[in-house]
Amino acid sequence: MDSRYTNIIKNAYDFAQSQKCKGEIASYIPELANIDPNKFGVHMTKLDGRNFGMGDHLEKFSIQSIAKVLSLTLAYKFVGEKIWERIDVEPSGTKFDSLLLLETYEGIPRNPFVNSGAIVICDILITHLNDAKKEFLEFVRDVSDLPKLTYSDKIADSEKATGYRNVAVCNFIKSFGNIKNEPNVVLDFYFDMCSLEMTCQQLSQTFTFLANGGKKITDGKQIITSSQSKRINALMLTCGFYDESGEFAFRVGLPGKSGVGGGIVALYPNNFAIVVWSPKLNKNGNSARGMLLLEEVTTHSELSIF
Ligand code: GLU
Repeated sequence: MDSRYTNIIKNAYDFAQSQKCKGEIASYIPELANIDPNKFGVHMTKLDGRNFGMGDHLEKFSIQSIAKVLSLTLAYKFVGEKIWERIDVEPSGTKFDSLLLLETYEGIPRNPFVNSGAIVICDILITHLNDAKKEFLEFVRDVSDLPKLTYSDKIADSEKATGYRNVAVCNFIKSFGNIKNEPNVVLDFYFDMCSLEMTCQQLSQTFTFLANGGKKITDGKQIITSSQSKRINALMLTCGFYDESGEFAFRVGLPGKSGVGGGIVALYPNNFAIVVWSPKLNKNGNSARGMLLLEEVTTHSELSIF
């Protein structure tokens, strides 16, 4: 019964595994450099609850920027459409940690998925929560039905010790008045948020609500409205891959989000969430083998939004 999806995943996995993929592990966060570059896993969760996984799909990795979609979701619940007064919805066309456009746009980040935008989102969450670190984790555990999910203190501490660019980004935005709390408090939470660890299977399970109009597939709980879910999907399509979002839409044709830990989540609305993990990143900071696998999945299955 499930042979169609099993074949789609297996063929794409075998093909991507057989290809030479150039790339480097992210080492600017020292702790991330300790990972085996040959790890490779994929997991698809269909909205009807069926699961298809291969390779290292049950091994935890650092989800990094993929967590920015979840922090946006929680902040969007609190602030509603007013959130777009503090963050724009345009692709940046610059690197994920760039300061360049903050000067031009007077401290308004281009979108919530570049570091500057995600840092403003963290500021919003700190304003609305008593203990952002604890309550954000509780939110993710609830969305995913995974009560044991945790941050990695090792990864967070490693980034806290070396994240000078993010310190600069946060302070620069503060100088324009678009950070309301103390920069060191905001940054501390930002680094913790990025250190969340999940397996491909857990991450694809977590993201099914965004392929399902904002509603959890397990108990039907509405996490965000379907209109908000549509907008987050649109942002993932246009801004989810740093300066390579056009390329991802062109090659894969699904909304998605990558992280420098080598993970990518992609969504086929009303059908499935898929996560791939392969730590070697291309020059734009996206998993090289992961992109290749997803391109294979959508090309041969014709399961894309276009
Ligand atoms: N914590 C990472 C940073 O701020 C996240 C980057 C990413 O995954 O794109 O540099």
